[in-house]
Amino acid sequence: MGTAPTACVQQSLRDLDTAYRNFFDGLKGRRPRRGAPRFKSRKDNRQAVRFTANARWKITTGGDLSLPKIGDVRVKWSRALPSAPSSVTVVKDAACRYFASFVVETEPGTLPDSESVVGIDLGLSHFAVLSDGTKIDSPRFLRRAEKKLKREQRRLSCKAKGSNNRGKARLKAARAHARVADARREFHHQLSTRIIRDNQAIALEDLAVKGLARTAKVGRGFHRIGRFEPTSQVCSQCGVKDGPKPLHVRVWTCGACGAVLDRDINAAVNVAKAAGLAVSACGAQVRPVLVPAQRSEAGTHRDGQPTVAGIPGL
Ligand SMILES: [Zn+2]
Repeated sequence: MGTAPTACVQQSLRDLDTAYRNFFDGLKGRRPRRGAPRFKSRKDNRQAVRFTANARWKITTGGDLSLPKIGDVRVKWSRALPSAPSSVTVVKDAACRYFASFVVETEPGTLPDSESVVGIDLGLSHFAVLSDGTKIDSPRFLRRAEKKLKREQRRLSCKAKGSNNRGKARLKAARAHARVADARREFHHQLSTRIIRDNQAIALEDLAVKGLARTAKVGRGFHRIGRFEPTSQVCSQCGVKDGPKPLHVRVWTCGACGAVLDRDINAAVNVAKAAGLAVSACGAQVRPVLVPAQRSEAGTHRDGQPTVAGIPGL
């Protein structure tokens, strides 16, 4: 291998400087606290290089990516760039796949107004249940990918450390892992896009807000309710609280008003109602989400991807 392009090395130093600045500002309480920069190794599973404007990279007329000292690289575009990019980061992930990620500036869009409001319950029996009665399961392609990942991880665990076979098994497991992560991200993205498009206001329990955080940016109301709201104990029709029910009870009849209640849908309706309260009266367990609060959450999340993640059992 030859030497790296000058501009990239300089950029690495500038990035390191920014990282240290952010780290020390965090210690002084001037911004959210974060960890110190870590050393990178050429043996790391993930490798990345960033080309900024002065690194003389460009997109050719043929749609290839032309990089200094590397030359033209064929790109399979996932979407058209909305404006001229200011920098590009080329990443090689643990599954040995290469990605080019561009920085572009765009105006935040606004969606047309919608009449409906939705509450979402993320239970154990379904991926999500909406207050309008829709029950959403995780798709088969995701379940199949998860199964394959488990198999590859089992195979990896019985290979001797440092052996060639372990190296091969590691790559296979990494590929399976990447496929699961992609499938899940894709599914979350489709689902949250649909929910945001169809509803003017969205409410869900506190523990699952990440994926819908972008709601606030497209002209939608977004509410979350506290975790301790007993959404499964209260009748969504008359409001009577008739106590906890064991998990195997999926449907019951309200002792007070006689309504037949589906456990998940009832919970989703209660989530919507709890958030509705936040608009008129103010309750301690009901509060709207402030958008800046998402920053720290994104920082603590494993891969920084905005997804409906962090739900127990997923
Ligand atoms: Zn009732």
